[in-house]
Amino acid sequence: METKVVEMKNVNEFGFYEIRMESIGGQGANLAGKVLGEAGVLNMGINGLNFSSYGSEKRGAPVKAFVRFAPAGKEIYVNSPVERPQLSAIFHEQLIKTVPVMAGVTPETVIIVNTARTPDEMRDVLKMNSGKIVCIDALKIAMEEGTRVNTALLGTIAKFSGFIDPEAVKASISHNLGKKYAKLVPPNLKTFDRGYNEGVLKEFADDGKYPPVDACGGVACQKIGYLNQPIGGVIPVAGTSIQKDLSPSREGWIPVLNKTNCKDCGECDITCPDMTFEWTDGTNALGKEGRVLVRINYQYCKGCLRCVQMCKFDALHAHKEAEVDEEILKKGFTRV
Ligand code: SF4
Ligand code: SF4
Repeated sequence: METKVVEMKNVNEFGFYEIRMESIGGQGANLAGKVLGEAGVLNMGINGLNFSSYGSEKRGAPVKAFVRFAPAGKEIYVNSPVERPQLSAIFHEQLIKTVPVMAGVTPETVIIVNTARTPDEMRDVLKMNSGKIVCIDALKIAMEEGTRVNTALLGTIAKFSGFIDPEAVKASISHNLGKKYAKLVPPNLKTFDRGYNEGVLKEFADDGKYPPVDACGGVACQKIGYLNQPIGGVIPVAGTSIQKDLSPSREGWIPVLNKTNCKDCGECDITCPDMTFEWTDGTNALGKEGRVLVRINYQYCKGCLRCVQMCKFDALHAHKEAEVDEEILKKGFTRV
């Protein structure tokens, strides 16, 4: 690709433009960071690096992907995680409940959120004093195009960075997907274009609605010392079955349990990787004393739909999550 001179505005004190993607396993943030890094270095002629930080490599585990860009000629010797991003992309709004997504964010940071909400609504969710919010319904786009949210978000990131050439990113998407999955290239390029065009930006001034927080998201920005160093050997968010919330892993689809058809056979529970089905003792559907399926607890469901394939009794169906009644989501079953 022919490269042009790239003017990067809003760089940090070291001259870098830094991007942080907040995600969980399965949403493709790692690949998005790779695509973006390659687009900058190979197709735009600027310097860049990307890497990700994650624990266990599985759906539902928290993932952060980082991209650091610098103009051509300026070398990057910093490879630490991005703590004060110029652009922060939140791959699912539910992450706001469990991940400190506002850490290090300043009023100059562009915050992109995958959500069906408006920027005004999202400001209330984030309790943001002032700054820039871009809302993009990447999940809806991905469902309509048969793709994933990461390519839609790449389009939004390219647009609101102000300097990332969309054609450079599209060339990188084609290169990365085309090697193994050529058929996926056209829908992903369309997804990218929609992400580029459908993001809605709103800037908020400090109107006193929410108090300002320091750039560390409420954590003092001073250097770490004996008074404020984190306690070693402690996992602050324990991976207990009570706290974990897999709802951000879902890609728009959920299983709905129709209790009228359920025979309490337990096949769904055997196949479910996340202990989502709740049971009790009682008289089962065959009239015998035994275990009785109570409901699906959607907090733990990552939407893989294996259970739907497994059920032989037409008691589990896949539905678009956005179209399922709130009451069914709360109860965890229906009888129709
Ligand atoms: S597999 Fe189907 S019939 Fe069997 S317990 Fe699960 S939902 Fe009920
Ligand atoms: S879709 Fe079914 S199998 Fe997959 S996590 Fe949810 S309940 Fe379990």
